[in-house]
Amino acid sequence: MIVMKFGGSSVESAAAIERVAGIVKARVERRPVVVVSAMGKTTNKLLAIAAAAIAGRREEYIPQLHDLRDFHSRHARQVVPLEHRAELDRTLDEHFQELTELVKGLAVLGELTPRSIDAISSYGERLSSYIVTLAFRHFGMTAEHLDARHFVITDRHHTKAAPDFPETYARLQAAVPALAGRAVVVMGGFIGSTADGVTTTLGRGGSDFTASIVGAGIGAEEIQIWTDVDGMLTCDPTILKGGHRVKTISFAEAAELAYFGAKVLHPATVVPAVEKNIPVLILNSRRPEVEGTRIVSDIVKCANVVKSIACKRKITLVNIHSTRMLMAHGFLHRIFEVFDRFETSVDVVATSEISVSLTIDNSERLDEVVAELRHFADVDIETNQAIVCLVGDNIRYTPGVARRVFNALNGINVRMISMGASLLNLSFVVAEADLFRAVEGLHGEFFASLDPEVFERNGAVHA
Ligand code: ADP
Ligand code: ASP
Ligand code: MG
Repeated sequence: MIVMKFGGSSVESAAAIERVAGIVKARVERRPVVVVSAMGKTTNKLLAIAAAAIAGRREEYIPQLHDLRDFHSRHARQVVPLEHRAELDRTLDEHFQELTELVKGLAVLGELTPRSIDAISSYGERLSSYIVTLAFRHFGMTAEHLDARHFVITDRHHTKAAPDFPETYARLQAAVPALAGRAVVVMGGFIGSTADGVTTTLGRGGSDFTASIVGAGIGAEEIQIWTDVDGMLTCDPTILKGGHRVKTISFAEAAELAYFGAKVLHPATVVPAVEKNIPVLILNSRRPEVEGTRIVSDIVKCANVVKSIACKRKITLVNIHSTRMLMAHGFLHRIFEVFDRFETSVDVVATSEISVSLTIDNSERLDEVVAELRHFADVDIETNQAIVCLVGDNIRYTPGVARRVFNALNGINVRMISMGASLLNLSFVVAEADLFRAVEGLHGEFFASLDPEVFERNGAVHA
């Protein structure tokens, strides 16, 4: 068995779904279990509808609901056999009626709870998985749909629920392998439910995580993440084009890149895969012939120091100065207790005798955090910062990396620098306005020559 996960852009239209059907059909002998994301930007659209509802903007959310129904119907009709059209229409009607009731309920309440966000955003994957199942039948496969919410059992932490692995694995094991023997199994990613059946989600980008949970649960031989790029690239293509494909990378390196912003992989994806030692592949659904990236448990020998550069934008830098001249013991404890209490996670930290600087990427509760910190420290805030993170297992063994970094940055002001505790990353903070220049300089420095065993050169640059 293999798990094949297709992201939003891989199922964004009838043509994309047809491509997916072709990819799956060509691998049907490997008994694929298919995990799909919501079609295109559906999750964002659902969240926008919820936001319009609680603000009482009926003139917005009613047409948005119609558009979303129309979008699903229009594309689905092209990939669903004639004899299933009536069933399709009925199911779409049911789902959109339910969704509309829910949205109207929100409009009355004027309040959006994490639980209702999950209820609403779950419709994306519920619809896409159903449509893809019908499409697979249309393209000549035997396909069965499973409601992921009956299998992925989570805690009650709505909008970023954590799976109950033993329960989830037991449920998957009991149903999926037997079914996969006679049909292509299709499930929605991202969604789950609590033990008592309340819908939850695993957090944005969570379908990758579902794929890995399912893969570990059924003991798959491989977990394939099909997306819209050729694999893990040496830099984030939304910042700098022309990155090279990384052919092989270790779980530890991939996890670090994902954590520091490489959106191509949800950070939790590697956890179940590592535990069961299942290789994860990143592949391009528009160019299935490209080998992609293979993520494996072994260290990957490489002549380059750095495997890839990840970036996180919209970072806030928090500088905290002890109001007593010297840092009393317990100072760090007090600081982190505040961040913990307001559920705000910290990425990069640097300390000196009298001050601590740290970065956060979620400033939702920053005002509350700062108010608390000001009881015992001076605090200043800098917004519009970015983290740049170089990842590579060789960083720990190679002297002079920091010198090369500063040379490549060529005068760009670095606000903080940190060698990650895992010793395989070197991260630093720059103003967001300098991000492009920083990545361009670093990419030129660290990827001018490439180990051909590990990288596939992108012909478009450095040619
Ligand atoms: P999907 O909908 O298939 O899950 P995502 O948008 O979540 O796709 O992830 C794919 C995107 O990740 C790419 O289009 C690319 O813009 C972004 N990305 C960021 N960093 C990297 C990187 N190092 N390598 C490849 N893609 C990256
Ligand atoms: N549809 C969800 C999202 O947009 C999950 C995913 O695509 O992985 O976040
Ligand atoms: Mg994704």
